[in-house]
Amino acid sequence: MMVSEDIHNEIFRDSIATISKEGRRNFISPKRPKGKLYNKRTLFSMFYLFVFFSLPFIKVHEEPLFMLNVLERKFIIFGMIFWPQDFFIFGLAMVTFIVFVILFTVVFGRIFCGWACPQTIFMEMVFRKIEYWIDGDSSAQLSLRKRAWDNEKIIKRTVKFILFFTVSFIIANFFLAYCISMDELIDHIKHSSENIFTLVSLIIFSCVFMFVYWWFREQVCIVVCPYGRLQGVLLDQNSIIVAYDHVRGEPRGKLSHKDAHSPLEKKTGKCENCINGCKDIKK
Ligand code: SF4
Repeated sequence: MMVSEDIHNEIFRDSIATISKEGRRNFISPKRPKGKLYNKRTLFSMFYLFVFFSLPFIKVHEEPLFMLNVLERKFIIFGMIFWPQDFFIFGLAMVTFIVFVILFTVVFGRIFCGWACPQTIFMEMVFRKIEYWIDGDSSAQLSLRKRAWDNEKIIKRTVKFILFFTVSFIIANFFLAYCISMDELIDHIKHSSENIFTLVSLIIFSCVFMFVYWWFREQVCIVVCPYGRLQGVLLDQNSIIVAYDHVRGEPRGKLSHKDAHSPLEKKTGKCENCINGCKDIKK
């Protein structure tokens, strides 16, 4: 009896919340986060974004502080220039880095994902904030999605599209600056008629960022990112990680306060499936 109950409670592991039973995408509209930890993350993200957008402007001895120019095979890290013949240093550094990442993840779980991954920082701290500002919190986003295309929805979607594309275009420019240096990028912009290839590349990369942040979102972690795919073998019972508590949440089911102490209560997990965070968990 105990075993079959456990199996029943573990059924949620066979599927992921972002894909429906029919195999379609379940688009997530999370409630706007708040709290001390989130405030700290916001501050850290502001510092992170400041560094990301400042570094391409910093030069050492007339060379950029950071540059990863794959086309010219010239790499500058903290002002030190590496050429293809120095590639063994890069190989050693990568092996050291991978071992560090594995050991770090075993102990500290997904701290990198939550605090330092560019995908998370741009999604949660830039694009998601724009979305909350235009569409409102999760319930307002859900009702807007279901609504017919009236004037308000058209205006909101247009403003959101313009802002998302503008930010995507800015990010694409800075990524290019990390590849060819800021001076070179400014030169390409000044002589854009002679550098159509650069403009086309920027628009293609802007469209890719747009696709990721408008629609693909957390699917990057599930489908694309190798680090995300390796999480299952990098974590163990002792890793520090924020995760779904299936003992508390399964089996799922809707409950209201009047169901408290009723037979229905015993058949469901403690989570009430509400959209109000965890303040309504049954005591
Ligand atoms: S799984 Fe990959 S893409 Fe997702 S947050 Fe972690 S490092 Fe970033």
